[in-house]
Amino acid sequence: MTSALEVAGVSKSYGSTPAVRALGLVVEQGEILALIGPSGCGKSTLLRLVAGLERPDAGIVRVGGDVVAGPTWVPPERRRVGLVFQEHALFPHLRVSENIRFGLDGRPRSEQDARVVEVLELVHLAHVADRYPHELSGGEQQRVALARALAPRPAVVLLDEPFSSLDESLRARVRTDTVDVLRATGTTALLVTHDQTEALTVGDRIGVMREGVIEQLGSPDEVFERPVSRFVASFMGDADFLPASVGTDGLACELGVVSPRTDVDAAEVVLRPHEVALARLTSADVAVLAAESADATVREGEVQVGAGARAVVTRVEYHGAFVLHTVRLASGRTLRSWQPHSVRHPVGTHVEVSLVPGIVASLLVGERTLTS
Ligand code: ADP
Repeated sequence: MTSALEVAGVSKSYGSTPAVRALGLVVEQGEILALIGPSGCGKSTLLRLVAGLERPDAGIVRVGGDVVAGPTWVPPERRRVGLVFQEHALFPHLRVSENIRFGLDGRPRSEQDARVVEVLELVHLAHVADRYPHELSGGEQQRVALARALAPRPAVVLLDEPFSSLDESLRARVRTDTVDVLRATGTTALLVTHDQTEALTVGDRIGVMREGVIEQLGSPDEVFERPVSRFVASFMGDADFLPASVGTDGLACELGVVSPRTDVDAAEVVLRPHEVALARLTSADVAVLAAESADATVREGEVQVGAGARAVVTRVEYHGAFVLHTVRLASGRTLRSWQPHSVRHPVGTHVEVSLVPGIVASLLVGERTLTS
């Protein structure tokens, strides 16, 4: 089957600034691919290259199997791409139905009418067909923009930060509705976002971009649980890092052994807040530990209770469903831990910190993740 979108070896610079560098990407039919990366990494430029709003300096773009940039040039309106941008870009002087009809120019009037009704029903907005954009809420405008993009049955829909102008309460709802419509119609989509939650929830696959290249492309759980680099680990979610060195049982960090590997001398353990468990220490535990640490054979930082390490809570942030605890280990390093909303260890509480059972933490050597 032909891929809906193929980008091969595509580069684009603005003056001496490379925005996209020899980038390759394939989006399969019906797939939603989310591109995420920090501001300025080239996400929008890539989308504009696919849309035909920019010409690549090198490389090939294929839409629905047809070359649209490279040896031949196909202008945006003949590319079979639909665009949904942050500012909904609806024509303010045209009614909703006329906005949608705009992309169907050249087709028989009866076909246009039928398609306008069809796509408005798809986004549950048939009742606003005669309104002007300013008579709609932000969420409705966004759904009209989606309907307009879908009307000509494009091979791929490009969405550039489509929900970021909506306020938070509306954003999740419009996002879910949009994904439902894309799924229901089997539409292929390339979505640009800087929001991790959006990328993780919407994308069948996620491309994490950095400085004009895709540093990791994979399913949401791959990029979150098996990041290829420090950059991806830090960008896709919160991460803390603890040094680990090899001993007889494998690689050990301050929390204890984290891997049976003995083939590297040293690494850093990537710890996400949901991977870090806390248990409150009683005052009796603390007294025993204090006595032990007075023992010359036990050095500071090596005091351990069970499988974990001792720490003190230094910050507590209530997030509603969860409470983020920051703890300071004996080494002075800090870790974060998500606790259920019913658990709140006050600042100053002594806790035992350990890895949540079953977690296989990622290990970094330098900037890259160790592969098994
Ligand atoms: P992102 O969408 O990830 O924030 P962009 O694709 O907008 O990134 O930008 C990538 C790089 O290209 C940045 O360094 C940006 O400043 C530069 N850039 C983007 N568009 C232009 C332009 N029209 N003229 C000059 N530089 C640009």
